[in-house]
Formats: sequence, structure tokens, C-alpha cells
Amino acid sequence: MQPSVFVLNSHMPPRGASGNPIDAPNRAHIDAPRALAGAGPLHYTRGNGAILAPATEGAPMARRKKLYEGKAKILYEGPEPGTLVQYFKDDATAFNAEKKDVIEGKGVLNNRLSEYFMTGLANIGVPNHFIKRLNMREQLIRQVEIVPLEVIVRNFAAGSMAKRLGLEEGTPLPRPIVEFSYKDDALGDPLVPEEYIIAFGWASQQDLDDIVALALRVNDFLTGVMFGVGIKLVDFKIEIGRIWEGDFMRLIVADEISPDSCRLWDIESGQKLDKDVFRRDLGSLTDAYTEVARRLGVLPSNVTHAPKPHVIN
Ligand code: C5P
Repeated sequence: MQPSVFVLNSHMPPRGASGNPIDAPNRAHIDAPRALAGAGPLHYTRGNGAILAPATEGAPMARRKKLYEGKAKILYEGPEPGTLVQYFKDDATAFNAEKKDVIEGKGVLNNRLSEYFMTGLANIGVPNHFIKRLNMREQLIRQVEIVPLEVIVRNFAAGSMAKRLGLEEGTPLPRPIVEFSYKDDALGDPLVPEEYIIAFGWASQQDLDDIVALALRVNDFLTGVMFGVGIKLVDFKIEIGRIWEGDFMRLIVADEISPDSCRLWDIESGQKLDKDVFRRDLGSLTDAYTEVARRLGVLPSNVTHAPKPHVIN
């Protein structure tokens, strides 16, 4: 079968290839300067017949290589070196995938919400991987080397911290607390001290200082945005990626920011509007995420007619 809209560049770049010199007649398709605030100009090479798919709303790309499938997302090779396509699935998992379900429309909502948060972060100068949304379930992102840490910021005690310290959920913390888990599903993403991170070489002390600074900026931004729509940001998790520009390495926010990775409570009622609704069987997860999207003004026009992926490997 001939690919209809998309010809792949079969070459996957070594790290740092996103810094190649520009020759990009198609650059208008992917140039999102605000989304790359602080990241400097993005350069794309148009080589080996690579062309860009038209970014038609709702149209899935016809043919591309799957690079990774996680619990909630799939990563495909992007149209240009240094880019990936991130596809948001409807699958919901909790407790290290012991609890699973398919929540119709979740992927569409998370794609929109992550776009909203990443774009807002870029607008205040917090560098992140988001380039542009391609359709209802997919976004174009920068390829990064993921730091193997879950970076968690907490404003109020909840979840594992409340359990570990015997604190009542919702107890305000004296200041935002940043903690790290080592990303390893088989081990259940264990909490790790900075000492481990540095000793095992997952990140340097300088990296950690930069990561904490990034995480606290994300926290300030998200706290303010959510407060503006009557939602308390209890805690959240982000992931950090390395990008290479020549000899220089930079750390940027990667993965996603969505109600899958945050705790969001309605300020008035305390109602949970995040993945705890699924984890704790508190009602409809779609309703909760839709409410967050509605308040932020990013509700997609038709959640139910989201395209499914057509993967040919
Ligand atoms: O479970 P715990 O209380 O440690 O989670 C803290 C925050 O990090 C929550 O917002 C949770 O949704 C998020 N998290 C995540 N992915 C994980 C672990 C935690 O998004 N694997």
C-alpha cells in the first residue's frame, strides 16, 4: 500500500540531531517558536524524502514507525529528525497497571490539556518538548533523552506521601516539596534520594538543581492557572528530557501534563478532578477531565469521534 500523506524518513537521528542546519521549506508546518521558548531556533533537515503530513484536524497519519508504547501513550517516529509524534491512548492504568480500563475520550482530553499547559509554560519561558498539536489525539514533540526520574511536586499531602507519613490528605505542606522516583515499572517506581540519583549517574548535581528549578516554575504556573478556574493543585508529576545542541545539553519538560499526572481538587467542594477518580472508583473519569477542560476553555468540539491509530509497522 502506498502511503497517502506521509513519507517517512527512515533515519532516526543520534541524540543532538535536532540541532542540524536548517533547510526546511516545510518549516511553517512545524515552527512553533513560542512553544520552544528559551530553546533557541529549531532546525530541521529535509532529507531522504521526508515530508510533513498536512496537520489536518482529526486526520490520523497513514504510515509511520512505532518506537515505544507505554501505558497511556504511543510514540511514533516524527516527520523530521529530532521530532516524534506522541499519540494519547484512552487506556487508563493505576497501581502499576494492576487496575486497567479504557476510558472513551480520555486521550483526546489529555492531548488538548497537555497542549494547553505546555504552550502556557513556553509562553512564560519554561522550555518543553511540545511543538504543535497535529490532530485530536496526536501532537508533534521534540525528541529527548528522558531522565529516568519521575519528578513529583507536592503542595498538599495526598497519595503516597499522606500514607507514608500518616498525614491527613489535604494537609498543607510548609512549602512545595520536590521528590524523585526512579522510573522502573518492575520496581514500582521507588522513591529515591538525591544521593542515589547522583551516585548511580542518572543525573548530576547540576542537573538536579536545574530540574528542581524547572519543577518549581511549573508548579507556580500550574497552581496559578488552576486557581484561576477554582481548582487546587495538590501535587503533580513531570518528566524531564535532555536535548543536545552541539556540545550543549539542556533540560526541558517532556512527557505530558494532564489530569493523569496531577491531583486536582475543586476548591469549593473538594471534588477530585483527576486520575484518583479512576484509582479510587469515585465516578466518571471522563466527566472529571471534561470539567477541567471546560473550565480552562479547551474542550474539544467532539470528543467521541476521535480517530483511532492506523499503524503499519
Ligand atoms: O502516588 P503519589 O502520591 O506518589 O503521586 C504523586 C503525584 O504524581 C500524583 O499527582 C500522581 O498522579 C502523579 N504520579 C504520576 N505517575 C506516577 C506516579 C505518580 O503521574 N507513576
